[in-house]
Amino acid sequence: MNKKVIRKILFAVFAVALCAAAYFAADIPFFQFDDYEYQDKGAALFSTQWLSAMLPFGIILLVSAVCIALDVLLRKLLYKKEKLPVGKTGIMARDKRKKRLVFGFETVRWIVMILSFALLIFGGRLFGTAFTNVHLPVFACPYNLDQLTNAGCFYFSHLDALFAEGWQEILAFFGTFIVCAVLLGRVLCGFVCPLGFMQDVAHEARQVLHIEGISLNEKLYAVLRLVKWVMLIIFLGIGFVGGNFCDFCPAAAVSPALAGFKLSLGLNGFIMVIVLVSGFFKRRCFCNICPLGFILGLTHRISLFKLKKNAVACTECGACYEACPMGIKSIFTEREGKDIRKIDVTTSECILCGECVRRCPENNALAITFCGKKIYNADRMKFMKQYAPKDKYAPFSGKEDLDG
Ligand code: SF4
Ligand code: SF4
Ligand code: SF4
Repeated sequence: MNKKVIRKILFAVFAVALCAAAYFAADIPFFQFDDYEYQDKGAALFSTQWLSAMLPFGIILLVSAVCIALDVLLRKLLYKKEKLPVGKTGIMARDKRKKRLVFGFETVRWIVMILSFALLIFGGRLFGTAFTNVHLPVFACPYNLDQLTNAGCFYFSHLDALFAEGWQEILAFFGTFIVCAVLLGRVLCGFVCPLGFMQDVAHEARQVLHIEGISLNEKLYAVLRLVKWVMLIIFLGIGFVGGNFCDFCPAAAVSPALAGFKLSLGLNGFIMVIVLVSGFFKRRCFCNICPLGFILGLTHRISLFKLKKNAVACTECGACYEACPMGIKSIFTEREGKDIRKIDVTTSECILCGECVRRCPENNALAITFCGKKIYNADRMKFMKQYAPKDKYAPFSGKEDLDG
């Protein structure tokens, strides 16, 4: 049988199995503590209680690792020593040119992501809960009672509960959202959100293990955009029909456990496995369907951070599009604008991760700006330092698949 057909059948079987697992997870909890415990304060870090609270997270990691290993094994069996089908819709080529570490925007992004993650999970213990009137619009689970700030995701998915609160709470919520939207926009996704960080860690793990990733074509990105609309309707509306988004939110399966709260896993545990496995093979896969990211993206026109393109410098090589985890084609195709040296190519989907700028081999063709000032721009020298082969005479067109 044709290998493409086998792959499609296996994919369908996998999808049906996942749906069945998700359906039954509601009745048979993925993991349940015998003595269901919900403390006011998380267990002391590295204590026995904390380790036992971490158990569900450990199970999630283990199941994710098994899923990844099975997928890799399956590919090996299907393709043996044949060349893998590399292309926009297939499996991406392994990056044989080692990326060299160059201090810059990416390093800063990782430092901010790690600090934000630590602050949003454990910050309340260090600095108290005085900032809980701040509802940061990222997935920072409110079941972690030791949080530094409150989670914007909670009230967006429980608008009924928000409207039942007093006007101060409503004002604090929308006030924080507007300030965050103007000052940071989707920088919150690229730099702050814990769920985004965990997907980036999964992606880096794949790079370290030299496992081929999966790239999506435009049709698949279009499907994800449709799924995102469905997610948005569920996210905003579920509270009004008596549901609770937190029951299947992946962040709820991890954040409280890390903070030392004993919580059982249900459907959200399965979904977290899907988020990690999909994020491992396709960078920021969940972010492509994330309803909170969608809401933040609506404000991209008023945000002070922008992605700008100089169409004169751009040679249309497409490296930026290949590298973009959100599949934004306009960064590569856009050539129209009042000033073609400063075309605003920020879209509602852009998480300002800077990956396109890093992969762009043309000086100043792409840049991230804050209040109109360039804070990061494409630089040929940096690009060569990071990706060019050590042998400076080796041919390098810049169009090789650099496995995003
Ligand atoms: S898109 Fe959603 S999950 Fe991804 S970083 Fe933004 S808020 Fe977090
Ligand atoms: S990577 Fe740079 S030069 Fe290539 S298409 Fe994108 S913006 Fe243009
Ligand atoms: S357009 Fe660039 S900055 Fe925006 S998400 Fe894509 S790679 Fe990241």
